[in-house]
Amino acid sequence: MKITVLAVLTTFCSVSMASFHAPWSRPFTNTSNTISDSLSCFGPVQKDFYYPRANFPKWLSDITGLHRWPGLSPPYVNGTNFNFSGIPEGPLYTQQSCNVTSHSQCSFDCDLCVGPKDIRHCNYLIQTFDDGPTPDTPTLLHHLHKTGNKASFFVLGIQVVVYPDVFRAMHYEGHFLASHTYGHRHLPSLSNRDIVAQLQWATWAMNATAGVIPKYFRPPFGGVDNRVRMIAERLGLTVIVWDLDTNDWKLTDQSRTLVDIFDQIQVWKTANIHGILLEHDNTMISVDAGIEISNIVGNGNITAANCKDDSAAWYG
Ligand SMILES: [Zn+2]
Repeated sequence: MKITVLAVLTTFCSVSMASFHAPWSRPFTNTSNTISDSLSCFGPVQKDFYYPRANFPKWLSDITGLHRWPGLSPPYVNGTNFNFSGIPEGPLYTQQSCNVTSHSQCSFDCDLCVGPKDIRHCNYLIQTFDDGPTPDTPTLLHHLHKTGNKASFFVLGIQVVVYPDVFRAMHYEGHFLASHTYGHRHLPSLSNRDIVAQLQWATWAMNATAGVIPKYFRPPFGGVDNRVRMIAERLGLTVIVWDLDTNDWKLTDQSRTLVDIFDQIQVWKTANIHGILLEHDNTMISVDAGIEISNIVGNGNITAANCKDDSAAWYG
């Protein structure tokens, strides 16, 4: 079985271009810088276009009335019986407008406010990776397989349907899998219906691809307030944020170096500091950082599920 998985990991990037002969009839533009650079595994594919390879199952057609995976801003689907009662329609705020939020909204991205059920800390030092799966994720999976360490992945629905084999490999390898929404939008700036859509479509993507129905989700940009929490809770999702930021995204503009990151991790490790490390598996350099951090942290089978003594990382 191990040989089978390794074969999947090493060959998924060489899928024949024949699979791309029927692109979407209405391609959509990627407006999220966060994931725009992670989709060039297949050479000449124009990176502003997505080519989902995951099947769109009949049960999802029956629920949604659609026949293909949507773009970064998926539609809210009538008929899912989501209960909107008691959820305020605002106030909405963008990442640039924290000044309009009130502290009573308990915003994490504006005020580092944490809701009573949110998970922000862990009694272990654990690695969490956002924004995958990507063509760079298998390199990390190989290393974790070799060393026997588990990690926690917060995946984007759109990435799951574009790289379903990578997502299935993450699942097969026994890593903790949770939602990072479908299209990486800043949720507090969206309407209630659009927030529901972002969360539901991510769950549908994970379920359709590997039978995973997530229990946990991490809001993109840490964007969560009480309105978002209410919606997430009604969808059975608990918020996990972080307390130890590696700032690995700064590696790409070289405002932070690998040595800076490793020194910081070593300081935390030596001081016996525990917590949730925020990392990314959407670029090769952040994956390289993740591999070396794994060598320093070496946390075995400990994942985000252990932060709450949860014996099952997801539903079903
Ligand atoms: Zn993210």
